Order: sequence, then structure tokens, then C-alpha cells
Amino acid sequence: MGKNRKNRQLKTIDFKILEKNLTSKLLIMEPFILAAIEEAEIGRQEGGIPIGSVIVYRDRIIGRGHNRRVQKRSAVLHGEMDALENAGRQPASVYRQCTLYTTLSPCPMCSGAILLYGIPEVVIGENVTFMGEEEYLRSKGVAIKVLQDTRCIKLMSDFIVKNPQLWNEDIGID
Ligand SMILES: [Zn+2]
Repeated sequence: MGKNRKNRQLKTIDFKILEKNLTSKLLIMEPFILAAIEEAEIGRQEGGIPIGSVIVYRDRIIGRGHNRRVQKRSAVLHGEMDALENAGRQPASVYRQCTLYTTLSPCPMCSGAILLYGIPEVVIGENVTFMGEEEYLRSKGVAIKVLQDTRCIKLMSDFIVKNPQLWNEDIGID
């Protein structure tokens, strides 16, 4: 009886700690996903595809960018690639301590870059409008967090409805 009560108490305490950690983790992530959303919004205002990304090293943004395929007539400047490019050349030791935030699930190209540089953690705004290579990244040991953020979902779903051809071109579909 006494033992059972003790177990119950322990479970309650564990749950509270878990809840606290979960809340504080979300609070830590919020400014960075917000920065990625700001980048996506800049892209949208430029007439581009509204996907943004930031790269965080030791709680500081070292690179930020947004999809600029339309703006730059670029074949490779997805949001994540633009953020990587803007972070400049970094030693492997830095990439290995970075978290990449992106408003949308990363495509095969961007997932390849994440693996190439050994970025260990990716926080994804949403994967409702497009499912990228999350399973592949997970299989290679990358920690993936999907927020299903309604702001990210709205940016993309509004864009896809208005510009289906531009979106298909971005992900290599006719
Ligand atoms: Zn991509």
C-alpha cells in the first residue's frame, strides 16, 4: 500500500518535470521558428515561395535565409540552402552543434546538405503541405521535431492555392 502511494507520487512528479521541460523547450524554440517565419514572410513579400530557415549555434542565429528560386532565378536556393549560404563557411565542429529551423519539411536537396555537414537537429514548422525526407534524416540519426505550427501551414497552403505551378516547379514536379 505504502509502496503504491510512493509510486503514484513519483509518477506525478515525473509528469510535472516532463511538462516543465516540454514547455521550456517550446519557449526556447519559439524565437527561432519565429525568425524562420519572418524570413518566409519576406520571401512572400518579394513574390517568392514563402519558406524560411535559420541556423542556430549555441542559442544564436548564425545564418538566416528564405527560398529565393524566383527572386534569383536560382535552381538551388531553397530556404535552408540560403540560410546555410548566409552562415558562410563554418568548421565541422560548429555544424555539429547547430540546430536548423525551417518552416517546411526539408526536401531531398536540403536534407542532403544537413547530412553533409552533420547538423544533428532539425526543427520543422510543418509537414502538412509537404512531407520531406524526415524518415531518411531520422534513419541517419538526426533529431527531428515537427511543430505543426499553424502560421507555417497557412503561409504555404495560401501560396500553393494561388501558385500551384510555381510550387510544383520548386519540388521538381511537372
Ligand atoms: Zn529544399
